[in-house]
Amino acid sequence: MKISVIGAGYVGLVTGACLASMGNEVSLVEVDMRKVESINNNIFSIYEEGLPELMKGTDIVATTDYNVINGAGIIFICTGTPSNPDGSMSLEQIKQAAGEIGDLLRTRGDYCVVAVKSTVVPGTTDEVVIPILERSGKKAGRDFGVCMSPEFLREGRAVYDFMHPARVIIGEFDRRSGDTLLPLYEQFKAPILRTDIKTAEMIKLASNTFLANKISFINEIGNICKRMGIDVFEVAKGMALDERIGNKFLNAGVGFGGSCLPKDLRALIARATEYGYNPGILKEVLHLNDKQALIPVDLLKKHIPLNGATVGLLGLAFKPGTDDIRDSRAILVAGALLKEGASILAYDPMAANNFKNIFPEIKYSSIEDVMKSDAVVILTEWEEFSALDYRGKIVIDGRRINKAREARIYEGVCW
Ligand code: NAD
Repeated sequence: MKISVIGAGYVGLVTGACLASMGNEVSLVEVDMRKVESINNNIFSIYEEGLPELMKGTDIVATTDYNVINGAGIIFICTGTPSNPDGSMSLEQIKQAAGEIGDLLRTRGDYCVVAVKSTVVPGTTDEVVIPILERSGKKAGRDFGVCMSPEFLREGRAVYDFMHPARVIIGEFDRRSGDTLLPLYEQFKAPILRTDIKTAEMIKLASNTFLANKISFINEIGNICKRMGIDVFEVAKGMALDERIGNKFLNAGVGFGGSCLPKDLRALIARATEYGYNPGILKEVLHLNDKQALIPVDLLKKHIPLNGATVGLLGLAFKPGTDDIRDSRAILVAGALLKEGASILAYDPMAANNFKNIFPEIKYSSIEDVMKSDAVVILTEWEEFSALDYRGKIVIDGRRINKAREARIYEGVCW
């Protein structure tokens, strides 16, 4: 199958590489010329395990030229949907992509399916994407198909997740649209749910906001446990024995970040509000998460005066295995520390360069130098942090690195 993927970020690049490795002829369309050049030279702007090897084995091409989608039977839209300043979802990249695809549909005689893979608020594909595509004079259902098939991959395990999905959701405009997409997914051993487009969009947002909810919930329990001298990890272990609860996303800590959970929460809150509904739980999940990130700063203040102190940050990426710092808790912690008059020494095995774009005033150094700071805050559970010598140090741990308990002064955010 000839496939085009629009947007070669985390999702687009991984989608393209995986579909190509499955024997499809894949082209990537990307507006960022630097990304295009680096992809074509096998240099990747993102870190994902297994991706370089996968790409080497394919003849995938990246280009800025939309003409490459002519002849593609399926066109996936994988552009970004970041937050607007008011929390609603920015659809600018999707609109632009749909406009370009529409221009090419105008002169196209054969049937193809446009499939939205980006996470979008319910109603986006029907109310925004299809009308833009139909400006071409072509009609959805009659001349081209439309699907919304959300992506559930996790950064750091993106290739594995794409190839081993827990489920596949196909939101279809009509039967023919879904039938065109189906063969791509049938080879995965995963349940496939075919549904309507709006439902598919909501399944993705509801899934992400539910996971966010689980994290803020266990953090809340953790904050209570810390005050009562109860180990929240032991509590979570006991809770997880109930299969209705499960053992995933029950690690208490400094909260969630990343390109998805915070932004999707904000987007669903904004969308619900547009419909006149006040989503109380969702708002509180977000509020708790932002408060949680600042707990390390309060804990530090108990042990050292921050004005003039040098604080070491261990971990800047929003989670291990990635260089992504979008909505990373480290951003909030660094901002608060600088406001308190502390200087920061920061270390991350992958994300330091990205962090530098936001905080050029911070000193980025080796892990050894960071360990010489007046106090250390652990914000990402990179494996190498479990091999450090913490003896004699002051450590505030946001991620439950057990080895760090050997520190002279050790405090977990909620243990
Ligand atoms: P990203 O910002 O890394 O990638 C988007 C890419 O699209 C960028 O490279 C950008 O330059 C490019 N782009 C923007 N406008 C374009 C246009 N008109 N034509 C061609 N390219 C264009 O974003 P991402 O992390 O890959 O996420 C993409 C979507 O997938 C988002 O909606 C996100 O919420 C969702 N998602 C992300 C993840 C994840 O873990 N990152 C997981 C599941 C779903």
